[in-house]
Amino acid sequence: MSKELAARFVKRFGKKVAIEADFQWLADRFSITVLFGPSGCGKTTTLRCLAGLERPEEGKITFGKSTWFDAEERIHLSPQQRGIGYLFQDYALFPHLTVFRNIAYGLRGVSRAERRKLVGAMLERFNLLGLEDRFPHQVSGGEQQRIALARVLVCRPQLLLLDEPLSSLDSPIRKQLRTDLRYLLIDFDIPVVLVTHDRIEAMALADHLIVLDQGRIRQQGPVAEVFNRPVDIDVARIVGMGNVQPGRIVETNEGLATVEVGNRQLTAFAPIPLAEQVYVCIQPEEVILQKASPELSSPRNRLLGTIKSLTHEGPTVLVTIDCGFSLVALVTRPASEELALTVGMPITALVKTPAVHLIPRS
Ligand code: ATP
Repeated sequence: MSKELAARFVKRFGKKVAIEADFQWLADRFSITVLFGPSGCGKTTTLRCLAGLERPEEGKITFGKSTWFDAEERIHLSPQQRGIGYLFQDYALFPHLTVFRNIAYGLRGVSRAERRKLVGAMLERFNLLGLEDRFPHQVSGGEQQRIALARVLVCRPQLLLLDEPLSSLDSPIRKQLRTDLRYLLIDFDIPVVLVTHDRIEAMALADHLIVLDQGRIRQQGPVAEVFNRPVDIDVARIVGMGNVQPGRIVETNEGLATVEVGNRQLTAFAPIPLAEQVYVCIQPEEVILQKASPELSSPRNRLLGTIKSLTHEGPTVLVTIDCGFSLVALVTRPASEELALTVGMPITALVKTPAVHLIPRS
């Protein structure tokens, strides 16, 4: 039977409204929903309200047929009653317990033999075999994270809540675990809600994204949709839309709009009527660079320009081009080397029509 997580609540601190949440999604199998937004926007408080660690003042939270919270009916189930697994930002491992006993902690009422079996399976699954007799301070940050995950998942929760699970880790291990985390969780086949303010983490991990700002949900949907098609300029700013330029629609015809940006014209989809004044948004990774001007190519938007700057960022290069307006493209380092990109050289930027997103400017 399909199970839905539905939450509609108001959480106040003093007289101030901290969070106004309203979301629901199918939560009957593995998927990662990311709560994303700037510091202080209410991500952790939302997660804690879902967990039962914080009590909202108004509203209702249901999971499938069970009511976890109902302000009017005075229902407020504990995290244990909700069957929640909650991973704290600092993992909150017990320093005086061994790795084995940390993982076994939630298995009260389970026979010794069964406990050995369950913890053993977790040690194997999380690549922790051989560490069972160590204490938390005797293992690495990445291992601590896996121990904390194993401790939560050994109890087979029906919903897993992760608060900034990678924030305590150093940069190289953080990148590795970003890749591993999805793979580690997928086997457990439970829905996951994860908090992060890191754009790359959100893009790498989320199926579904909820953008929060000042305690309000500003947009939610599939991750690519939210990152590439923000509903307004505030969400565009929060998701780090790389190119935002003021533009003017000069023509619309059969669902396509011609937009003037700087002294150039671009083609964009315009499925709904839009005001004349718009913001033109393009994610840098959607811009393709070519050396010569291609005679034939499918992208409608072919922009000749000059490279103004190259910024190296790890394995990628941000290329700023003057093509009648300032356009930023993101390419890999090998692609940049192959094209022998240098400041001042002429370049052609190609942008497919669906990659040009328009937001009304009013
Ligand atoms: P960060 O990314 O910095 O952790 P966040 O998005 O998780 O931030 P929250 O920690 O949920 O944000 O805080 C949301 C708002 O509620 C903030 O303005 C914060 O100051 C306020 N707040 C959180 N907890 C409390 C509390 N116990 N008492 C009073 N105000 C609080």
